[in-house]
Amino acid sequence: MVATYDGIIVGAGVMGANTALQLASAGLTRLLMLEKAPGVGFGSTGKSSAIFRQTYSHYETCLMARESLQIIRNWQDFTGLKSTRADFRNSGVVFLLSQEGRAVEEVLSIHRRAGVISEVLDAQARARLMPDFSFCSAYLDLDAEAHECQEGLTAIYEPEGGFADPVGTTEDLLEVARGLGVELRFKARVTQVLQSGGRVSGVEVEQDGNLETVHAPLVINCAGPWAMGLNELAGVPLAERIVPIRAQKLAKRHPERLRAPLPVVNDLINGINIRPDATGTQIFMSSFREHHSHEEVPDPDHYNDWADAPFREEVLTLAHHRIPTFQARGEITSYAGLYTVNLEDNHPVIDETELQGFFILCGFSGHGFKLSPVVGMLIAQKVLGQWGRGKTDVPLNFFDRNRDPLRSFWSGFFT
Ligand SMILES: Cc1cc2nc3c(=O)[nH]c(=O)nc-3n(C[C@H](O)[C@H](O)[C@H](O)COP(=O)(O)OP(=O)(O)OC[C@H]3O[C@@H](n4cnc5c(N)ncnc54)[C@H](O)[C@@H]3O)c2cc1C
Repeated sequence: MVATYDGIIVGAGVMGANTALQLASAGLTRLLMLEKAPGVGFGSTGKSSAIFRQTYSHYETCLMARESLQIIRNWQDFTGLKSTRADFRNSGVVFLLSQEGRAVEEVLSIHRRAGVISEVLDAQARARLMPDFSFCSAYLDLDAEAHECQEGLTAIYEPEGGFADPVGTTEDLLEVARGLGVELRFKARVTQVLQSGGRVSGVEVEQDGNLETVHAPLVINCAGPWAMGLNELAGVPLAERIVPIRAQKLAKRHPERLRAPLPVVNDLINGINIRPDATGTQIFMSSFREHHSHEEVPDPDHYNDWADAPFREEVLTLAHHRIPTFQARGEITSYAGLYTVNLEDNHPVIDETELQGFFILCGFSGHGFKLSPVVGMLIAQKVLGQWGRGKTDVPLNFFDRNRDPLRSFWSGFFT
């Protein structure tokens, strides 16, 4: 007999998990989640820095980040779990910009409108919060013969921000969803999307060497870097070009003489991000410099998941410039994961496709983790016309496909 469900979710990363929780909370409990990996965190989610920052170029994305941050800050209330694994750390988040100007004014005005708590740090506050940092405002050109540090930097501080454990957060969500009746199968790869009369009718799934057909009038594509491939299988490729991009990371012990706990630091002058780890012993580093942000990966199942030597050298040098006691030499760990980037405008698509009942949510670049709680709410409203757990003020159609591109006023980062 062919199994029949109310809905099927493909992928058990953080998007699939939030989607399952929201749909089940809204009453759609005969849900099946199919995950090709043997566990949680084998896609983008497992490699995520899981940073919650709220500085964005659009009111809507800023609002989305603020609402999601309030959820992770009140995680036990939201999930209803007595013991959780998300481990949110309220380290605070700092943005370093080269000077005052339009970007700073725009950021602060969007923050005020969306209700984000933030401030521009004066020199004293900056030194108090980040005593180990250099506040040089000059771009460090690694090909130049010399570098002269300059004054004049602006620091925007979000005291409520921080970071979580990406896999733990996803496991919490899945625990809640399963408690509501959702069935989750690992090592279950969707190999076909079935349709009849212009509507989706189910999927074909391969598990333990067997092929099985499962019927459902609703299929949600939460396949992250594999999502465009799944849409092609369904015969509904998106007009937007959304591609997996390799994102490299480093982790290294920080100096014992660091004088204060690190906040998350987004250094927009030199294009690096610095994040502490939960144990307080390591620094994670990544880059959003232009030449590190465009490496397309044709097959998300095969890519180099370690950082390259030139990347390591460059990012360690930039981190040392920002934290002078941080030595660029010594043992480091490196890895690489996949962002899924919408090359049109860097924003995701959250919408029903041309195939009725077949939805896609993908293209979250390096933002998806923090936005995912609200993404789940938007999907419940789009699919069922009702809220599941909590509700959002973010407009439902903001991430529709075929929209006019949403332009960031700070290319490459805020969005
Ligand atoms: C290095 C890195 C750092 C990041 N840092 C941040 C950050 O600091 N803050 C932030 O907000 N975001 C960050 N992100 C982005 C964020 O992690 C992603 O946007 C988010 O995890 C995407 O989740 P997802 O569920 O869509 O994708 P995934 O986690 O990739 O989940 C998709 C799942 O679908 C499964 N799947 C695919 N195809 C099939 C199939 N045919 N059948 C069954 N299962 C299938 C995959 O196995 C996978 O588990 C970062 C990402 C990376 C890579």
